[in-house]
Amino acid sequence: MVERTVLAGARVVLPTGVVEDGRVTVEGRRIAANDSSEHATATGSATGSGGGRGRDEHATLDLSGHWIVPGFVDMHVHGGGGASFSAGDPEEALTAIRTHRAHGTTTMVASTVTGDLDDLARQAAVLSELTEQGDLAGIHFEGPFISPHRCGAHQPELLRDPHPADVRKLVDAARGAARMMTLAPELAGGLDSVRLLADHGVVAAVGHTDSSYEATLDAIEAGATVATHLFNAMPSLLHRAPGPIAALLEDERVTVELINDGTHLHPAVLELAFARAGADRVAFITDAMGAAGMSDGMYPLGPMSVEVKDGVARIADGPTAGSIAGSTLTLDTAFKRAVTIDKLTVEQAVRALSANPARLLGVADRVGSLEPGKDADLVVFDASYDLVGVMRKGEWVLRP
Ligand SMILES: [Zn+2]
Repeated sequence: MVERTVLAGARVVLPTGVVEDGRVTVEGRRIAANDSSEHATATGSATGSGGGRGRDEHATLDLSGHWIVPGFVDMHVHGGGGASFSAGDPEEALTAIRTHRAHGTTTMVASTVTGDLDDLARQAAVLSELTEQGDLAGIHFEGPFISPHRCGAHQPELLRDPHPADVRKLVDAARGAARMMTLAPELAGGLDSVRLLADHGVVAAVGHTDSSYEATLDAIEAGATVATHLFNAMPSLLHRAPGPIAALLEDERVTVELINDGTHLHPAVLELAFARAGADRVAFITDAMGAAGMSDGMYPLGPMSVEVKDGVARIADGPTAGSIAGSTLTLDTAFKRAVTIDKLTVEQAVRALSANPARLLGVADRVGSLEPGKDADLVVFDASYDLVGVMRKGEWVLRP
């Protein structure tokens, strides 16, 4: 008999809206029913808390006063828990994965940072195995095909133009696990590389770029569909030079990543982007590095050292010293900020944290919303929006 758990009494966030005093029924690793589907799928079965027989038997967990939202999907994250995906070590990658899971991220890609092409190919081989075994939703290559003028925390001497053959080399090294690549489309080979990625079903993301408004429109036309951490590592929005920000915000085909940690973006700017793009075209990401979920101190980011002070990560030395180097954000904090500081509704925040990135990564048939048949990936928050529970594939990572 498949184990059945009913989570009852909470405010449940469904694609159709918030259900007060809702119920989510978990059967094995999947969602069997939510409030709006209960009558259709469970007619004549559930007879009460633990009172039935056979498949009617279930445990009920009272979550009154809590929120149940879909498990979060992070499409841009480099590490956490002191561990980095760039290490090319499966155990270290799992440490990062577990750290973010405990903060509500039940699906994530592994983001790499700029490195030597052979190094990146080796990392990709390791990360593709973790993708195959279901721990990752794929790989996001960030660099080396990015602008030397906007390299942020990436090592300038390892940057290169996006020659399609090199882009292809990384995609092939990922053995089907490449989900996204961030590149600067204005570089030589940029548009051809965008087309190549789109042809291979890999999301082409515009980022770490010095692109103009017009050149960015060309990249979107060529198949780019994501803005990598919009506003960060690209020209600012100016009234006579709208640059990539205006182009990426206006096109309906583009989803914009936003880092909602209060350091990378002012809340007013985040709200402006949300108002322009709408709730279906924003994805909240962490862009977290190893220090996420840890205390202040020194941490590696690829081949570089990062100093974390008051939760803000900056490159410690070398030509890019002082640059913000990713974040120490986790998505439970991004959620709490969204609904307590950024004036977003819970539904808007949930779309940006779950449904939108799930759709982008091509996994929306399995995750991203609390619908029957999907994986039982969910996060429980108390009334103050503090995380109290995480379930992944029907198992509690953190029991409320
Ligand atoms: Zn990043």
